[in-house]
Amino acid sequence: MNRKSSTHQSSARNAASKQVKGKLGRVARVSETGQSTNLEGLITQLLTVLGEDPKRSGLEETPKRVAKAFSFFTKGYQENVDDLVNGALFPIDYDEMVIVRNIDFFSLCEHHLLPFFGKCHVGYIPDKKVVGLSKIPRIVDVFSRRLQVQERLTVQIAETLQAKLKPVGVGVVVEARHLCMMMRGVEKQNTLAVTSHMLGAFRKQQQTREEFLKLIGPSPN
Ligand SMILES: [Zn+2]
Repeated sequence: MNRKSSTHQSSARNAASKQVKGKLGRVARVSETGQSTNLEGLITQLLTVLGEDPKRSGLEETPKRVAKAFSFFTKGYQENVDDLVNGALFPIDYDEMVIVRNIDFFSLCEHHLLPFFGKCHVGYIPDKKVVGLSKIPRIVDVFSRRLQVQERLTVQIAETLQAKLKPVGVGVVVEARHLCMMMRGVEKQNTLAVTSHMLGAFRKQQQTREEFLKLIGPSPN
């Protein structure tokens, strides 16, 4: 693909994405009753534009399946971290580091709508308050099940914990492989993109940051 056509497509995509977003929201709410016609119609159109016959037997159910899959991949838009975290905060007398590591996540890059996926590691030092441990992977899900860039995903997870827990410090490290890098463009199969966001003691104190990085260990990928 030459540069010109890619620029052109990208502006068309921006215009289309606004419409799709609103429709996707509606679709996600009705998809369980099998009425996700808006998104299904768009997928049928996409198949046609790609040069396919959406009526051939292998593709008959494809728009329905893709609509359902995309509603799931983007269900984070229907979820709210306040509902998730409020009610799961507990007072505690513990001021050592809490770490939840190797949280699997799957997201879609907002530039290509292709998956990026990997592991997320979260650590914080509580200040009289902790959040239920199972909520941390759920927070990762709320933000990863949206159209994302890895950098913003990392920041959103860290800032949410900072806002809800007001801890001594927070550290988030995300390691991911991007299908848009693996399948197209540079076609690099083994590249791991690593992003981190450190707040409070994790940013200011080298010792704390090093302890966190040591405890999350070498990448399992
Ligand atoms: Zn991409």
